[in-house]
Amino acid sequence: MASDIIDVAVIGGGPAGAMAAAKLSQAGFDVVMIDDNKPLIRMEGLGERLLHWFDTQGLGASVRDIATYVPRTAYWGGINISSNHEYLVERTKLDALLRQYAVSQGVKYHEGQGYFSDSSTDLEIRVSSGHCFLPRYSLDARGRKAHLQQSPTRGPATIAIGGWFQEDPACAPYACVCPIPEGWVWVAAPGNGALWVQATLDAAASEGRPEQRLVKALEAASPPLKLSVSPNPTGVIARDCAPILPTKEINPFILPVGDASAGMDPLSGHGIFWAVSGALAAVSSILTLENAPSAKSEDLVKTFMEKRIRETYWRQARLGRDFLRQETRFSDFPFWQKRLHFPDNVPVHDRQKIEIQTTILPNNGVLKECEVLITPKEPSGVAWFGDIPAVEAYRLYCSKTPQQSLVSRWGQKNADHLIKWFEERISAG
Ligand SMILES: Cc1cc2nc3c(=O)[nH]c(=O)nc-3n(C[C@H](O)[C@H](O)[C@H](O)COP(=O)(O)OP(=O)(O)OC[C@H]3O[C@@H](n4cnc5c(N)ncnc54)[C@H](O)[C@@H]3O)c2cc1C
Repeated sequence: MASDIIDVAVIGGGPAGAMAAAKLSQAGFDVVMIDDNKPLIRMEGLGERLLHWFDTQGLGASVRDIATYVPRTAYWGGINISSNHEYLVERTKLDALLRQYAVSQGVKYHEGQGYFSDSSTDLEIRVSSGHCFLPRYSLDARGRKAHLQQSPTRGPATIAIGGWFQEDPACAPYACVCPIPEGWVWVAAPGNGALWVQATLDAAASEGRPEQRLVKALEAASPPLKLSVSPNPTGVIARDCAPILPTKEINPFILPVGDASAGMDPLSGHGIFWAVSGALAAVSSILTLENAPSAKSEDLVKTFMEKRIRETYWRQARLGRDFLRQETRFSDFPFWQKRLHFPDNVPVHDRQKIEIQTTILPNNGVLKECEVLITPKEPSGVAWFGDIPAVEAYRLYCSKTPQQSLVSRWGQKNADHLIKWFEERISAG
């Protein structure tokens, strides 16, 4: 079989794979993206931060075209919290849009099931269609499927069952999340009479077929949500959604991105944001290896990616735990008992003040060791405020004449912003 020599092969064309492929192609690499194209119709919610990022990529308007902006309510702890909004999007539409974007940026799209071949010492990617690629770098963007042949660290076995119900087409679009004794339910109404309901439940509990479990969960959530919908769901799908952290050491030439690097609890609602930001981290890693091929760069990439994945996983898992803890009515039920102390009891913010630390971060597209500010709110570190180096600003803030020093360096307006930012962090500690 003939093998194509290419720069980068990306297996998986979800948000992480498509955005990484597009960025690498923009950086001048010859990129192939392989996806098995198994569309799974379901709704997901996108946050403002992700839309802002799509705006910076020139994709915001296209994403808004296929999404519905809705108010989001959480009926949590017996009270209604209606503080934010989200964009509801049908995922196959979003994936198609991002893949098309990747192709428009020069990525070669290849349909089929991709495998990392272990029959050779060279990096070799085989595709079910019979093709074979010999890339210099590759990305594993297979989503949660990447963990099937491994033994990762897993959180409590959790399943998300989703399906479509019918609602009054005149109903205004909305989204809400509602806890129930067996888990929690997310209801997404894009305003066209279709209602996507997703129940997150204990996977170990064997309480009937997915359809029955979904209807039962919706019944439990219906009184607080004041819902009256048809009882027969269509398009029901059940997905594993336990938090997952791989234990395998990272090979700098086969970098995991998105859910292939770590699986988040969907309660966070930030999975796609983490997928695309992880994709950018992988792009910086490949540029680092390309610009300065050496064992030192490989170590830098390995350390950076492992730390980033670990920190994101633990932080998101602890944030999820703290959100679950705000619901106290169901703490005696098995679903809640298993999750109220997962992953541990360590606080999300385990530092009390601002510290200067050396870490590895993307800087002008490549990874560099640099000093950052670690704060109670930014445990992964802040290197820059726009063009202002964060550590230099903090040192001036700690000087004998902070106001004067900051004003003379960056002007009154910036000085005011910086002082407010530092004071907020110090009082948060
Ligand atoms: C129940 C549930 C609800 C969620 N809700 C939200 C939400 O509301 N908001 C949010 O931001 N996030 C949500 N998430 C998380 C979000 O879905 C993921 O974080 C995101 O899809 C990860 O993107 P990805 O590109 O890494 O993986 P995926 O989106 O899973 O994409 C992987 C792609 O690779 C393909 N593939 C897999 N194996 C192969 C192979 N061997 N060869 C070729 N192709 C392959 C797959 O078919 C797929 O197209 C939810 C997750 C779950 C489980």
